[in-house]
Amino acid sequence: MERLYSPWRSQYIENVDNLDGCFLCNAFKSKDDEENLVLYRGKKAFIIMNLYPYNAGHVMVCPNEHIGDFTKIDKETLHEISELTQFAVKAIQKALKPDGFNLGYNLGRAAGAGLEDHIHNHIVPRWNGDTNFMPVIGEVKVISQDLKEVYHKIKKAMEELEKGE
Ligand SMILES: [Zn+2]
Repeated sequence: MERLYSPWRSQYIENVDNLDGCFLCNAFKSKDDEENLVLYRGKKAFIIMNLYPYNAGHVMVCPNEHIGDFTKIDKETLHEISELTQFAVKAIQKALKPDGFNLGYNLGRAAGAGLEDHIHNHIVPRWNGDTNFMPVIGEVKVISQDLKEVYHKIKKAMEELEKGE
């Protein structure tokens, strides 16, 4: 993947060990999907926006269960993660019209995983020339506002897709 400049990512990597519990589990258990940026809940997996995005519209698909070992995920969950990944790509295409996508897992710190204990499949939309994405913004607050707006766009696209629109 061509490197995107996202200074808030390093802040996240530094802070992730000090978080109170697993933020994916916390989001899953919470009832407030908008506050936690949960986009969609399936039977065994769910879709959530990344709070420290590599790019606008960066979402993650993760199992409901707190599991870090990719080789131990059961077939049904793996299947649903793939289905939800496809669903998220469709919704992001509809909502944000990117030129491409990077999809994938980072397994282990050495591979760039911030949160190792709860597996998540990254979906990162890409635009031609987007390596200059918000190059001067270092403030997470600014991004959070943006996140809510993108959250609602993608959620609306998901609802339309489910209605067959
Ligand atoms: Zn977890």
